[in-house]
Amino acid sequence: MARILCVLYPDPESGYPPTYTRDDIPVITQYANGQTAPLPEADLGFKPGQLLGCVSGELGLRSWAESQGHELIVTSDKDGSDSEFEKYLPEAEVVISQPFWPAYLTKERIAKAHNLKLALTAGIGSDHVDLDAAAKAGITVAEVTGSNSISVAEHVVMMVLSLVRNYLPSHQIAVNGGWDIADCVSRSYDVEGMHFGTIGAGRIGLAVLRRLKAFDMPLHYTQRHQLDPTIESELGLTYHPDAESLARSVDIVNLQVPLYPSTERFFNREMLAKMKRGSYLINTARAQLVDQDAVVEALESGHLAGYAGDVWYPQPAPSNHPWRNMPWNGMTPHMSGTSLSAQARYAAGTLEILECFFGHSPIREDYLIVDNGGLAGTGAKSYKLN
Ligand code: NDP
Repeated sequence: MARILCVLYPDPESGYPPTYTRDDIPVITQYANGQTAPLPEADLGFKPGQLLGCVSGELGLRSWAESQGHELIVTSDKDGSDSEFEKYLPEAEVVISQPFWPAYLTKERIAKAHNLKLALTAGIGSDHVDLDAAAKAGITVAEVTGSNSISVAEHVVMMVLSLVRNYLPSHQIAVNGGWDIADCVSRSYDVEGMHFGTIGAGRIGLAVLRRLKAFDMPLHYTQRHQLDPTIESELGLTYHPDAESLARSVDIVNLQVPLYPSTERFFNREMLAKMKRGSYLINTARAQLVDQDAVVEALESGHLAGYAGDVWYPQPAPSNHPWRNMPWNGMTPHMSGTSLSAQARYAAGTLEILECFFGHSPIREDYLIVDNGGLAGTGAKSYKLN
């Protein structure tokens, strides 16, 4: 019997389960790059479309865990030395956490987690785990690669359109009983013809490019490895050798790179200054990729016309976080990768990884971040250790 410690976000304030808007969701069995969607052997302990990412949802793991004789502890109390998370951590063999409500597995916490063998991210992005410390402690780190890439890509497209067309302030005017069309449109443009660039054209970044192609926007990207020439010509992509060249050339910049030591705060004051006046910046990757205060200043000065994203630091963001009230922001809580559609996939992927781990069969390479004392699988492509 193993202890599985699962940290999930709190239940809806209106209670659990919510009243569902729809009765079913489309079945996705394969992703754009050919990777198959998660396929656990056991029956899913949930109906796809249910709310699984909150405490009462338990990622649908309860019946499986109990049938295997495991102890499943689910909590949202994750921060501080007197949290439930720290209380149960020393005996936990598996920790499951979601980037939306990250249980930060710091070096200090890893030192206390004497029994920990698997840190599993139900979602994508394992930067809330000190990967260096995990590797040294022999902990496997895995995530459900691909499970919510399209969910995030759709959110990025929504944010591009809502910022450029001035959707949110105009909606607020309607809600408030107004009809101030001049106020709605004095910041409203068409995206057609605007240059869009993504820093990082991996699973999400490339999906965003594919979706924006239909809007007749010249598309740009940068990353260390150039994409296949057939993809470049199909989408008419302009490749830039570095982020600075891209930032100078486009109207809208999208950040879609993982967070690791050399990408931390790489979008700083100097980089923002290189963007054209009136540019938009979208960040659904990680908040620490940008200089938090520099973003606020650039919006206040008018250098940036808008900033939107769903990633903050820390998470949950304090109620006085400056990004909540900075001008022309389209921020949401960290929600893009945890739509009900995404949850069905990453909950199934979590179960698949647990089955492999306890069944001593290999976890898919795509899912591995750290294994056998070093970066592995997707982790070896995406991250760098300190
Ligand atoms: P991928 O690994 O598929 O893509 C990341 C891309 O970034 C790669 O193509 C890589 O290309 C590029 N890259 C890495 N380092 C650099 C660098 N220093 N400069 C330029 N490009 C770089 O990841 P995903 O697309 O699946 O996810 C991207 C990030 O989005 C995740 O790491 C996560 O932080 C975030 N995310 C957010 C979610 C949300 O809910 N908001 C949900 C899912 C993910 P190359 O190696 O050639 O440089």
